Amino acid sequence: MSERYDLCVIGSGPAGEKGAAQAAFYGKSVCVIERAPRPGGTAVNSGALPSKTLRETALLFHQLRQRGVTGVDWRVRPDSSIGDFMRRERAVIDAAWHAIDENLERHGVTRIRGTARFADPDTVEVTHPGQPPRRIAAEAFLIATGSQPYRPAEIPFDGRVVLDVEEILDLRMLPPRLIVIGGGAAGCEFASTFAALGAKVTLVTDRSRLLTQLDADISDAVRRELTRRLGVQSATDAAVTAVRVAGDIATVTLSDGRTLHAEAVLHCTAREGRTADLVLPAAGVTVTPQGFVRTDRTTFRTSNPRVFAAGDVCGLPALASLAMEQARVAVCHAFGLTFKTAVSAVVPTPIWTIPEVATVGLTEEGARLEGIRIERGIAHFRDNPRGQIVGELDGFVKLLFRTDDKRLVGASVMGEGAAELIHIPAAVIGLGGTLEYFIGAVFNYPAMADAYKYAAYDGLQRLARRVSAAMESRARATPPGTPTVPPPGTG
Ligand SMILES: Cc1cc2nc3c(=O)[nH]c(=O)nc-3n(C[C@H](O)[C@H](O)[C@H](O)COP(=O)(O)OP(=O)(O)OC[C@H]3O[C@@H](n4cnc5c(N)ncnc54)[C@H](O)[C@@H]3O)c2cc1C
Repeated sequence: MSERYDLCVIGSGPAGEKGAAQAAFYGKSVCVIERAPRPGGTAVNSGALPSKTLRETALLFHQLRQRGVTGVDWRVRPDSSIGDFMRRERAVIDAAWHAIDENLERHGVTRIRGTARFADPDTVEVTHPGQPPRRIAAEAFLIATGSQPYRPAEIPFDGRVVLDVEEILDLRMLPPRLIVIGGGAAGCEFASTFAALGAKVTLVTDRSRLLTQLDADISDAVRRELTRRLGVQSATDAAVTAVRVAGDIATVTLSDGRTLHAEAVLHCTAREGRTADLVLPAAGVTVTPQGFVRTDRTTFRTSNPRVFAAGDVCGLPALASLAMEQARVAVCHAFGLTFKTAVSAVVPTPIWTIPEVATVGLTEEGARLEGIRIERGIAHFRDNPRGQIVGELDGFVKLLFRTDDKRLVGASVMGEGAAELIHIPAAVIGLGGTLEYFIGAVFNYPAMADAYKYAAYDGLQRLARRVSAAMESRARATPPGTPTVPPPGTG
C-alpha cells in the first residue's frame, strides 16, 4: 500500500527545501525524503556554509595582517587544528538546520527519513535501516539529490592525505603544505583559505589560466593577488600524471616533469550527479554520462513529464541560490502555477577567494560570441576612500555595456564585499538599465559601491575616445575636399 502526496521531493538541500515549501504554500500535500540525519544538503552540511565559515576566520587573520595592525602577533600556532578555526561553524549550521526545520514544519511538509529510489514511474520506495520500506506515490516528483565530487580511479583518495572537497574540512591539523588540483572556483577558494591560515599552497590546473569562467583580466588579477597576498603558487597548463602517498606525504607529478610534495592534496576538478541510488530508468528519467539528470532547463521537466529535477543534480552551475530558484520554478510548472515560471537570466556568481570575486551577466568573450559590441568601464578601489580605509587597494569594479545604447550587460567585482556589491549591477541588468543609472545615482560616502559611478565615467570616456578615434580614421580615409555630410538633395 502506497502513501500518496501531490508532490514527493527527494533531497532536502536548498532545492528540495524550497521546492517543497513552494508547493505546500499553494496548498499541495508534500513529502520530503532525506537520507541524511539533518536537512540542508551540501550547502549546509559539507559545502557552502562550513567552507565560508572557515574562510571568514582565515580572512580575518589575513585582514589583520594586511591592515597593518602592529604590535600583535597574528601568526597561527603550528599545532592548530581546522576545528580551532571553525568554532562558529556549529552555530551557523545549527541556525540553518533550525530555519529549514521551521520552514518545512510551518508549511506542513511531511518529513521522511531514508534513501529513495524509483520502483516504477509513479512510485518511490524509501528504505532506512531498522524500518520497513515505504512506498510513496505522487502526482509529481522533484529530484533534488544534488551532486558529489568526481573521484577519478587513478587518484588514491584516502580521506587522510588525498582528499575531496567534502573531506578537507574534516582534516584535524592544518597541513603545512597543500596541493590543490583544480583551478575552478572550489580549488581557488580552498587555496585562498588554507594559504590565509598559513599553509604553503600550490594550485595545479591543466587549463591555461585559473577560473576560466571569468574574463581573462579578472582571472589574471585573481592569480596575481593569490600569489602576492597569500603566496599561493600556481601551475597552469600542468596536467597531473600521478599522485602517490608514502607515509604522511603525497607526491604529485605533473606533465611538465615537475614533482610537488605536500602533507595534503585536495582534488577538486569536477562533480557528478548524485543519481546512482535513484534507479532512474525505472521512472523513464534519463541522465548524462556524468550522472546529471537531463531536463529541458526551462520547466525543469525530465524525460518523464511528471518527474522534475532541480539544483546541482541538473549540472552546472552549482550554486545554492540557483538550486532554490530552479526548484520553485519546477514546482510551479508541475502544478500549473503562474507565480514563477522562469529562472531569472541574471545570476550573480560569487567566488570566495581572497580577494573575493563576483560576476553577473556576460563576460567580454560571451558578448563577442553573441555578436554584441561592448565597451568596458573600470574603477579601482585604491581610488575609493573606503577602499583605502579597508586596505582593499588592488580590487576593482568593471562594467560592460553595449556601445549602441549603453545598456549594462555584465559586471565583475574583485575585492572585499564583491559578493554583496555585485547585486547592484545585477539589479540594473535585470531592470534593463544603462550606464546612466550609475552616473545619476547617489552612493554612500565612504563606500565601495561609489566605485561604480567612476567605472561608469570611465566607460563613457572610453566610448567617447572610441567614437573620436573612429571619426579620425574615417576623416583620414576620406580624400581632402570630400564633403563629410551629403550635400542637400543627394541623400
Ligand atoms: C565546498 C563547497 C562550497 C560551496 N560553496 C558555495 C557557495 O559559497 N555558494 C553557493 O551558492 N553554492 C556553494 N556550493 C554549492 C552548493 O552547496 C550547492 O549548489 C547546493 O548545495 C545544491 O543544492 P541541492 O539542493 O541541489 O543539492 P544538495 O545540497 O547536495 O542536497 C541534496 C540532498 O539530497 C539528499 N539525497 C541524495 N540522494 C538521496 C536519496 N537517494 N534519497 C534521499 N535523499 C537523498 C542528500 O543527502 C542531500 O541532503 C558549494 C559546494 C561545495 C561542495
